[in-house]
Order: sequence, then structure tokens, then C-alpha cells
Amino acid sequence: MKKYLSLLIILLFSCNNNDENKIAIVIHGGAGIILKENISKTKEDSIINKLDEAISKGWEILKEGKSSEIAVIETIKILEDSPLFNAGKGSVFNSEGKVENDASIMRGIDLNAGASSGTSNVKNPITLAADVMNHSKHVFLSGKGAENFAKERNLDIVDNEYFHTEFRYNQLLNEREEGKYGTVGCVAIDLDGNIVAGTSTGGMTNKKWGRIGDSPIIGAGTYANNNTCGISSTGSGEYFIRTVAAYQVSSLLENHDYDLTKAMAKVIHQKIGNIGGDGGMIGIDKNSNVVMDFNTSGMYRAFVNKNGQKQILLYNK
Ligand code: ASP
Repeated sequence: MKKYLSLLIILLFSCNNNDENKIAIVIHGGAGIILKENISKTKEDSIINKLDEAISKGWEILKEGKSSEIAVIETIKILEDSPLFNAGKGSVFNSEGKVENDASIMRGIDLNAGASSGTSNVKNPITLAADVMNHSKHVFLSGKGAENFAKERNLDIVDNEYFHTEFRYNQLLNEREEGKYGTVGCVAIDLDGNIVAGTSTGGMTNKKWGRIGDSPIIGAGTYANNNTCGISSTGSGEYFIRTVAAYQVSSLLENHDYDLTKAMAKVIHQKIGNIGGDGGMIGIDKNSNVVMDFNTSGMYRAFVNKNGQKQILLYNK
């Protein structure tokens, strides 16, 4: 009888534990002027397929019991390797016709973080950001130094030509508004309740003078804290830096009793919107709730929530 009682207690405990620590994952592929009438069916299909591939890979990793850090890195790598998004392979050109990438990652359990900026030969900038976090005593490396560190770490190095796509080159020539953004990001929570957030981007088309956006800045483009939430931003980076956007969402949860939906809405629609910024965010709170919000006409986005439901969305509704 005693044996059965302890078995029952173990069973009850593990059920309860599962309830409390449900895995979830959310990604974005950039916000901006994203209108159904401007996107061909073929392009729409390829974007949906790539978002599906990325979110499914991340979800599988979490389901296998692996960490949210691995899930975020592997998911973002898929998006970086695709020419469809403004990160890695599909990065936008700066005013000199060159690609310069920015990326960051943050771990909510210990508030450790890694970031890199202005690299032009690292194939997967998110892996560089992760290595800065895990294998250096620094948080943020830039330019040549970051590239040297990537070489020391044996990361995949490519020629800048690798990043050249016709679509982005025409964008530089025409400075078109559509597809202006397109940064990628991912937030995941694993079985242990650890939240990790990551963001990767080519920045803004035609950027000048070594411009750095919000994406590699911890607190603006990326933030994670196991006690609150994880966030990845996309949009007009200068405004996300000025509002310390990602951290501000976390702070509203920690200090002002907001829930994630309310906090994200306040930062995007009031704090950023009121000073003229546009873009969006994705996030997961400590209870595994997924939230996505934006003040643009669309945001490429997908999630698998804690109930295992998958959704992939591009436009406003
Ligand atoms: N936030 C990025 C930047 O300002 C751009 C984007 O999200 O697409 O560099």
C-alpha cells in the first residue's frame, strides 16, 4: 500500500511538473510593409514553407528535451541560410554595397548574453553571438575583432559575395519601402522553464557610417529573463534602442504587474509608436504564453504554443 502511495505521489508530481513547464517557440522574419497584394503566391508559399521548416525544427529540438538555447540557434540558422529574410544569406546591402551583419542572443536563467555587430564574413551570425556568450568573457564584439574571434572559434567563414542576392541589390538601387526590414528572431522556453531569445539581421538597406541597429543590442532587440519573459524585436531599430524596447517589456512584467500581451502592446503602440517608430515583437512569458504584436501592416511570424498548436502568419490578421 505504501509502495502504491509513493508511486501515486510521484505520478501526481510529474504531471504537475509537466503542466508548469511547457515548451513553446515563436519566430519572426521581420515586420514592415507586408501586404498580401504586393506578394506573389509563389513568394508567399516560399516564406510560409521556410517559416514552417524553422519553427518545426525548433519545436522538435524542444520536444527531444534539448535546451531552448539550442532550439533558438538552430531555428535562426535556418532563417539565416534562406535568401528570403534580411539576415545571413538574404541580408540587405549597406551604402557601400556590402553586407554587415548584427546578431544577439540572451539566456534567461543567468542573464548571460552574447552579441556581434558589423561582421561581413560570418555565415551564421547567431552562432557567433552564442560563442561570444559561451566562450568569451565579453558580451558584445564588433567588426574585425568579432570576425577574428569567429575564425578562432572555427565558425563557418564565407566571402562577402556569399550574401549578394539580386533582390537585395535592387532594393539598394531603388531604396524600396517594401521588404525594408526582414530581420529574424526566435524565442523559446524549454522543459526546464529556461527562456532564450535571439535576433539576427543585415540591418537597414543603405545604412551608413557603421550604423548599428537594435538587433545586437541587449535590452533593445533581444532580452530574456526566466522570471519574466523573452523578447525579440524587429523594425526601425533606432526607435527600439531609444525605448530600450525589449527590456522595457520585461520590466513592465517584473515591476508593474503587466501581463505579456499588455506590456508588449504598451511598448509597441505607445512608447515606440508615439515617437514615430514602427515594427513588432515576439515573446514568451515564464508561463509559456506566446505573444506577437506589431504596428506595421504585417510581420512574418510563426509559433508552436504550449498546447502544441502551430500557426504561421504574414499579414495583419
Ligand atoms: N531592427 C533592424 C535594424 O534596425 C531592422 C529589422 O528589424 O529588419 O537593424
